[in-house]
Parts: sequence; C-alpha cells; structure tokens
Amino acid sequence: MIYKALLLVVIICSGSKKGISQKTSPKKIQYACSPCGISCDNKVFDGPGQCTGCKMKLVDKKSIIHRSVSPSDLSRFLKSTKNLMVLDVRTKGEFEGHGEPDFGTLKNSVNIPIDDLEKGGYKSLDKNKTILVYCSHSHRSSRVSYLLTQNGFKNVVNLSGGMSEVRDQSVRK
Ligand SMILES: [Zn+2]
Repeated sequence: MIYKALLLVVIICSGSKKGISQKTSPKKIQYACSPCGISCDNKVFDGPGQCTGCKMKLVDKKSIIHRSVSPSDLSRFLKSTKNLMVLDVRTKGEFEGHGEPDFGTLKNSVNIPIDDLEKGGYKSLDKNKTILVYCSHSHRSSRVSYLLTQNGFKNVVNLSGGMSEVRDQSVRK
C-alpha cells in the first residue's frame, strides 16, 4: 500500500516536472536564408552562419517579413499595385543592358546598385511606397529586401528568381 502511494507520488512529480521544463525552456531561434526562389528557401537551421544552398547569410526566420512575387505573377502585380517603385539593385552596366548575359530591365525601374543601398543609400527611398526589388537571380534583391524591412520599410516585395526567370517580354523595357 505504501509502496503504491510512493509510486504514485513519483509518477505525479516526474509528470509535473516534465511539464514545467517544457514551459520554461526558451524557444529556439530558427535561422533561414532570405528567400530567393530556390529550394533552400524552406530550410531551417539551428544556428547562424551561411546557407548551404545559396550561400546567403542566415538570419532569424521571424525577422524575414518581406513578400515575394513570382515571375509569372509579375505582370499582374505591376498592373495592380498602386504607388509602386520598381528598384533594380544591379550594377549600372547591367541595368543599361551591358550585362553578360543581359537578362533585360523592367519598365519604369530605377537603378540603385546594392553597394550604394548597403552604404545607406536606402535612406533616400520613400517608405510610403511599395518597393519591388529585383536583380538577376534574386540574391542581391533578397538581401536588399531584408535590409529595407530591417530599416522600417513595410511594403517590400522581392522578385523571386530575378530577371533570369522572367519569360514575359511585355514587362521589359
Ligand atoms: Zn539559401
């Protein structure tokens, strides 16, 4: 009888102990690369570092808040989005069509290279506008999208895959 009661106490104690430790253990931060349209976008890592897929810097997954638009939805997005700035973050040469290969340039886009933006050039941009960010393969644009949202921009959209994935000629210059 005493043995049974003791056993019961042990079971209850171990049960509640487990409950407490689960509640108080700190939530683990999940790290991820900034989405660029390839399969590693959905990967989650335990610590900071570099993505094994795209080589981009890993950041707290929860801090990635910009949206993405796919190349096939681009035309619809451009037509339906009011107060839009289209931002090309490639080099001046690529923007002007001298890239090798030349992936083309979007109509009505403004060129500010990523190097300038990362040095503080983003401060000249209008926070009230929706900013579509693009480059060739969505690595630079994804980095800039993250930079902008980290600095108070709320409406930032990254062109997933970049110009190299855009098949629609009507959106090009
Ligand atoms: Zn990645």
